[in-house]
Amino acid sequence: MSKRVALVTGGIGGIGSAICEALLAQGRTVVANCHPSEEQDAVKWQAAHKEKGMDMEIFPADVSSFEDASAMVEDIIKRHGSLDIIVNCAGITRDKTLKKMDVGSWTAVISVNLNSVFNVTRPAIDGMLNNGFGRIVNISSVNGQKGQFGQTNYSAAKAGMHGFTMALAQETARKNVMVNTVSPGYIETAMTAAVPEDIRNAIIATIPAARMGQPKEIADAVAFLSSDDNTYITGANLPVNGGLYMG
Ligand code: NAD
Repeated sequence: MSKRVALVTGGIGGIGSAICEALLAQGRTVVANCHPSEEQDAVKWQAAHKEKGMDMEIFPADVSSFEDASAMVEDIIKRHGSLDIIVNCAGITRDKTLKKMDVGSWTAVISVNLNSVFNVTRPAIDGMLNNGFGRIVNISSVNGQKGQFGQTNYSAAKAGMHGFTMALAQETARKNVMVNTVSPGYIETAMTAAVPEDIRNAIIATIPAARMGQPKEIADAVAFLSSDDNTYITGANLPVNGGLYMG
């Protein structure tokens, strides 16, 4: 069997990096996508990983653009012969109550978190179906499952991701293309470091595990769902949240 090729969008971020590392450890060829504005950071990220013996590709592309995303997917397929695993992990927040929500904050969050899932998956799906193998994991959020004050945009986008998962899973299961969602709770990354400390402590007080999660704990779930061993889990929404929400 040839080496499976995996694309992780938002691949140099906190959770994305851990996912790239986990997929590489499974023997995948890993392509870490980043936003074009992050290219210099991505080059450093790549060099730091290479020093530790982790050889991965980087691919700057704005996944909120269908043109950018499809050009990236086509390039990967052209160079590697296939794209077998997609982890849709790129995401942003623009938190505001709806009373203060402007169209720009709404559209940006929907475009990056939700439209990107279509933009990246659509150009890859024919290849997966023809090859009889595909694994797609969409990184949603506990806040897409339960809603969150100040996050109508983010909660809508993240809930939408799982709707996409369930619909596509039905269209592709017969061809061994498994599509799943992973919904992290609060994970220690730059995204949550930006939350003020008093709010962060209040959040931790509500988590049964009494701590935030680590990126590796998300990556381990993604590694299983995207593995060749996952032959029957599809359309699922796996919560990885320390017991914060049990839907
Ligand atoms: P992060 O900010 O460290 O990583 C997100 C990455 O996506 C960044 O590198 C960012 O530049 C990239 N990105 C943003 N817009 C992009 C675009 N248009 N094209 C390409 N790349 C783009 O955040 P993280 O905490 O690692 O989050 C990763 C994913 O997990 C996100 O989808 C987030 O919503 C989700 N999530 C995070 C948490 C958490 O607690 N950290 C909880 C639940 C869900």
